Amino acid sequence: HHDRKILVQLISFESRRQILVTHDVTQNEKMDTMRRDFIANASHELRTPLTVINGFLEHALSSDMSEETRLRQLHLMAEQGQRMQRLVADMLTLTRLESLLQPPSGDTVRIKPLLTRIVEEARALSGGKHFITLREVQDVDLKGNRDELESAFVNLLSNAVRYTPDGGRIDVSWAMENDGATLTVIDDGIGIAAEHLSRLTERFYRVDKTRSRATQGTGLGLAIVKHVLLRHRGRLEISSEYGNGSRFKVIFQRAQLALRQD
Ligand code: ADP
Repeated sequence: HHDRKILVQLISFESRRQILVTHDVTQNEKMDTMRRDFIANASHELRTPLTVINGFLEHALSSDMSEETRLRQLHLMAEQGQRMQRLVADMLTLTRLESLLQPPSGDTVRIKPLLTRIVEEARALSGGKHFITLREVQDVDLKGNRDELESAFVNLLSNAVRYTPDGGRIDVSWAMENDGATLTVIDDGIGIAAEHLSRLTERFYRVDKTRSRATQGTGLGLAIVKHVLLRHRGRLEISSEYGNGSRFKVIFQRAQLALRQD
């Protein structure tokens, strides 16, 4: 029932003996396709801001314009430059995460101060336009890489802010459970229709391109979350309803945790 592609190799040695070697190259081909898609998508994403910047530059070089117009165009170019910078930064992060074969070093990350700080940053990002709460957190140490975990959590929170209209609520909680611990980010924002849910962690997959761009999205945030969690033996559960908010739940295994004494 699966399409498999097998490479068969006949190797002769000592003139009489032969061995037949088979390689299953299905997986390799899948990787090649994914790589090609990634490069195609990335080029496309970078081309749009580049086109805008080049267009403005040509115009500015070839015509007189009022100081007001010049300033406005410079601002628009700066915006596009920043967009390219975010894209390249996320692409580098993702590529680096994927090329790391080693699991993250044995460092531990203290959860409570990390979540407290990230929630503060989300409030700043929201500019006071959302009601963001962090529920009581039982402090634990999580084994893993601080920067990676931080970028995963920040991505989930910034998505909640970006896809929730002003005045909305965002609730962050950390819960200890028998077999591990969970971080849950709930928003009452725009929600996601069921048919998109399984594809959200694909690179550059977006439900609504315009909204993603307007809120400075790169389309790579959830792909980064997925890869960080893979490296920390965690997983992501997404539930949502179109028009009715979303819930992103990260589940860590018990083996990744260490309870704090203080
Ligand atoms: P982006 O940079 O576009 O936000 P992500 O990879 O972070 O990229 O998310 C992929 C897509 O998933 C987004 O474009 C958006 O359509 C959807 N999405 C992510 N988080 C939420 C959320 N909290 N509420 C509604 N939609 C979301």
